[in-house]
Amino acid sequence: MSSIVQLNKKPQAKPITVAYGDGIGPEIMEATLKILAEARVPLNIETIEVGQKFYEKGVTTGIPEAAWESIRRTGILLKAPITTPQGGGYKSLNVTMRKALGLYANVRPCVSFHPYIKSMHANMNMVIIRENEEDLYAGIEYRQTQDAFQSIKLITRSGSERIMRYAFEYAVANGRKKVTCMSKDNIMKLTDGAFHDMFTMVAKEYPQIEHDHYIIDIGSARIASKPHLFDVIVTENLFGDIISDIAAEVSGSVGLAGSANIGAKFAMFEAIHGSAPDIAGRGIANPSGLLHGAIMMLVHLGLHEEATTIHNAWLKTIEDGIHTGDIFNDMSKQKVGTNEFAAAVIARLGEEPSLYRPAKYKPTKGSIEIHAVMADETEKRELVGADFFIHWRGENINELGTALQTLSTDALELKLLSCKGLKVWPNVTTEMDVTDRYRARYMPKKDGGVVTHLDIAQLLMHAAEKNIDFLKVETLFTFDGKAGFSGAAGA
Ligand code: NAD
Repeated sequence: MSSIVQLNKKPQAKPITVAYGDGIGPEIMEATLKILAEARVPLNIETIEVGQKFYEKGVTTGIPEAAWESIRRTGILLKAPITTPQGGGYKSLNVTMRKALGLYANVRPCVSFHPYIKSMHANMNMVIIRENEEDLYAGIEYRQTQDAFQSIKLITRSGSERIMRYAFEYAVANGRKKVTCMSKDNIMKLTDGAFHDMFTMVAKEYPQIEHDHYIIDIGSARIASKPHLFDVIVTENLFGDIISDIAAEVSGSVGLAGSANIGAKFAMFEAIHGSAPDIAGRGIANPSGLLHGAIMMLVHLGLHEEATTIHNAWLKTIEDGIHTGDIFNDMSKQKVGTNEFAAAVIARLGEEPSLYRPAKYKPTKGSIEIHAVMADETEKRELVGADFFIHWRGENINELGTALQTLSTDALELKLLSCKGLKVWPNVTTEMDVTDRYRARYMPKKDGGVVTHLDIAQLLMHAAEKNIDFLKVETLFTFDGKAGFSGAAGA
């Protein structure tokens, strides 16, 4: 059973749930909570146990029921890193939490603390806001043939609108000037196109905030080479995963950064680093990443003064050259362990940095609570055909074309075959190495012909009767006459 301990119970205090985590987790959490306690932050803390211990007991998510109860009660989780056991069967605790608690926005500030901490860029101060529930990262995958594996990239308008609104609201609330969207809509015109379109639409409602868009590849390169170009970046789940590590790495603050996972009802705050088993129990871990996660939590809870006091004490400690081993450099004056570092921050509560710009968190109009709301179905959606995905291994593509032509019904006929997105039949010679997974596109015989689900079912019946090894069917729709499906290259 997970233990739930009531600590520091105070009237008017905000309830939070705390998980001490694995590896260095307990050491850095203790240090962080000590700083919060000395700064007199009014919190009612419930402690839960999650992670390695429960994975080993066979709880595949690492989260026992008692832990869920506490998180659902307080709505806020401050979490130290967890060790995810290697091997199959175990589920990532973070991914489970994000999905179960609807934590749709991941917020990661990436700041350089030049000159006291080594950084590739002196003036870097950006926040990456990553959509947390959709995209390839949803992990909807299939193995279809001996050769071919498929992962579904799912983007919704409602989810995209929600993350865009969150990004702009975040910019307004935090005095940021610009929001940049990153996507790959030059290639993925439908999924990334929808994401980009939603950015353009929502941006119009925030004329006071500048906005621009980068294709993700050049955008990532610019984060590494010219990070001062960026203020707030909003992007999809997988791209966000990658660029937030690039940004944290070039800022020099991988071990210092905190992150927030925000939902309409729940929120989770943590350090971005892992449980560092290699240094666990030695009292040398840097508690700064978790402390920054805790500062984000205080801002989320509306405890702006406390967040400001702690952040400034931390900046002053860094300026004074009091550094843990991981950030120790030629500007450092004293190498300290986890507890000594926390004590140095505590000794500076009430002080401000001299070189770094002091932090100043301001009250905002309340926490940003946004739901994904589907728009009304105003566009006319019409069924216009079907793509059959077929398993086939043969030398002569014309044989497959001829076999699939015979499936044609009164309503639908085979128009083309493609492989890996390239048209391969009819009348095509290609040097591309093909695989054993082909797409057969069936459309009405006559342009504008009516198609029903029954026509597609009939086509499937014919395929089954003729022993065609089909893998899946994708129905094709137009929306207000505009194709809701991509064409094949070379078609
Ligand atoms: P890691 O971040 O734990 O460690 C990478 C390197 O950075 C190590 O050399 C470590 O000693 C050092 N380091 C990390 N945090 C430090 C700190 N606060 N102070 C000083 N040095 C620090 O990454 P990893 O070794 O790849 O992962 C270890 C475990 O953590 C794995 O089980 C992984 O699944 C887990 N993990 C958990 C989370 C999370 O809970 N959010 C995130 C990432 C990794």
